[in-house]
Amino acid sequence: MIPVFKPLIEQEEINASKESLELGWLGMGSYVSQFEQTVQKIIGTNDRYVAAVSTGTAALHIALLVAGVGKGDEVIVASFNCSADFQAIGWVGADIVFCDCDDDTLELDLKRAEELVSPKTKAIIVMDYDCILSDHDGIAAFAKKHNLRVIHDAAHSFGSYYKGKPVGSFSDICVFSHDPVKTVTCLDGGTIVVRTEEELKYVHELRLLGMQQPSSVMYQNQRAWTFDVERVGFRYHMLNMHAAIGLAQLGKLDVISSSRREASRYYNQLLKDIPSVRVPNTDFEGVNPFLYYIRVPADQRDDLRAELKKNGVDTGIHWQPGHLFSLWKDCKAGSLDVTDRVGKEILSLPLHSKMSMSVVKEVADQIHAYFSKGAK
Ligand SMILES: *Cc1c(COP(=O)(O)O)cnc(C)c1O
Repeated sequence: MIPVFKPLIEQEEINASKESLELGWLGMGSYVSQFEQTVQKIIGTNDRYVAAVSTGTAALHIALLVAGVGKGDEVIVASFNCSADFQAIGWVGADIVFCDCDDDTLELDLKRAEELVSPKTKAIIVMDYDCILSDHDGIAAFAKKHNLRVIHDAAHSFGSYYKGKPVGSFSDICVFSHDPVKTVTCLDGGTIVVRTEEELKYVHELRLLGMQQPSSVMYQNQRAWTFDVERVGFRYHMLNMHAAIGLAQLGKLDVISSSRREASRYYNQLLKDIPSVRVPNTDFEGVNPFLYYIRVPADQRDDLRAELKKNGVDTGIHWQPGHLFSLWKDCKAGSLDVTDRVGKEILSLPLHSKMSMSVVKEVADQIHAYFSKGAK
């Protein structure tokens, strides 16, 4: 079976795990500091502060707290997004306001967002869906106009560039995920990027039980035994072994990103002429693609999936729209007609780092075969 996701675990990651275990300091320590410094270098800016945490979802939770979002506040978010974003909004007691996405880019539709702003709106979450980045200049202007904080969920766009600027270098608050299937995995991990030292200090407290012990001590594989706690905190820090694996992955970011780009371009080339298939409308320049998705007629999607599965090709669905889940079906929302359609058409094909082009060809051939035999 050709899987949808396949982690790039090689000798470097195995060595890194072993070394971190041999170090014997299993919690947050020196590897976490190195991981943060390396991410900072990749972001390439000195006016941002990077903190590693346990998951992307934890990073989103912390981001909402840093943005001052709480009970009674509204957060505008695309319904076409990951459940993690909706859960995090729930964790801070705020209300979800579902926005539609754009039919071409699949990014949050800013014109529709304009209709959803209310006196309670405190923040907007903008997520880069895979290989086409959001209109970040438009988002910044929107946020300024309405006095909102922006949380940039860049779980799909680590290592990508927006108008030549590295993702993470320009947002109000930016969040990455390094979970098992993301382009750069730490097994599990997340990163939050903030703009001020005060916000970083707050993030450090939030990620480690509210403890005010300086991270600099733990980064030397030691701990302060006395410190104060002033506020509620969580157990969201990153572990040394996770950071060590992440560092091994960061060392290969170029090959991860170029091989995924190459596979995505090849898919586009092979699939773009099938009348029933809509491929991403991009040349993938400057992005590190997380998914490769296509859109197919809604009434054929599940049949195609079953047929591919029968022939050894697994596929995924990113995502079922948020407003269709029981928990979120009554949330405030604008018109979601594009999201409803996209949710039924979207299909993720296998995409791996260092993927062989013959595997891309095999998947594409099967999709050709399905549509050429006049599938039902
Ligand atoms: C993966 C993902 C998350 C959650 O990150 P985890 O590290 O799995 O907690 C959030 N948002 C998006 C868009 C994601 O793809």
